[in-house]
Amino acid sequence: DRIAQKRDRKFEQFEERIKDADQFKVEQSVFDDATLAALYKLVQDGHVEAFGGPLSTGKEANVYQALGPDDTEVAVKVYRINASNFRQMRDYLEGDPRFEGLGGKKKDVVLAWVKKESANLERARKAGVRVPTPIATERNVLVMEYIGNEAGRAKRLGEVHIENPETAYEVLREYMRRLYSAGLIHGDLSEYNVVFHEGQLVVIDLGQAVTVHHPNSRGFLERDCRNVANFFSRQGLDVTGDDLLEFVTTP
Ligand code: ATP
Ligand code: MN
Repeated sequence: DRIAQKRDRKFEQFEERIKDADQFKVEQSVFDDATLAALYKLVQDGHVEAFGGPLSTGKEANVYQALGPDDTEVAVKVYRINASNFRQMRDYLEGDPRFEGLGGKKKDVVLAWVKKESANLERARKAGVRVPTPIATERNVLVMEYIGNEAGRAKRLGEVHIENPETAYEVLREYMRRLYSAGLIHGDLSEYNVVFHEGQLVVIDLGQAVTVHHPNSRGFLERDCRNVANFFSRQGLDVTGDDLLEFVTTP
């Protein structure tokens, strides 16, 4: 019918705009029709004004820089549903009271995953952990605060020379404790998912973070503690995963 035709035309125009956008060079496969529709919706809703180049192309998601409203910058994380390891995603959603009754359908799992990442970021923020502020979700796409400046995305802990590892460690372990007190465990915490920004540490990538209800939450927490302690011992600190675990779980 006419309305559908009109919508299709609008959609095609948007698709052209995305493909034409100077820096928006991405493999075609990232944007199936449903993803394009989600991006289009985010533009319509005013969360994104223009797309920039990719900040990262990962196994399961790509992250793009984009222009938000009022000259703000945003980061847009786009999950690739087909490539994504949804079975593992399903496992990470286990026991989470926020997603009770979730079936095993691939699409539902990915949708829940993006909602979970956004909810995790919000919960972490409220608990006093510096994370990118979530802005909007649409299907397999998450829009959040961009962490970086004109020179580019903020560097990961593993990419910079750390002037003062003691302070960085103290800040990060306090973040871990606050997160744990708020019932969350990051689940993939290491020097790859913490960045330096304006003299602060910012924790990113909370997609796989689980609530303490998860059957393996303790195992994830122990692994996070080991990763972080190992990194800081390579920076010359005398710390162990066990010490860190003790600190994090002691209110
Ligand atoms: P990986 O598998 O590489 O860990 P991922 O799919 O888990 O990737 P993220 O870790 O969330 O995705 O993001 C990948 C990279 O994109 C980050 O290491 C960081 O450099 C960049 N990035 C993510 N979120 C933001 C943000 N909000 N602002 C700026 N850069 C970001
Ligand atoms: Mn990551």
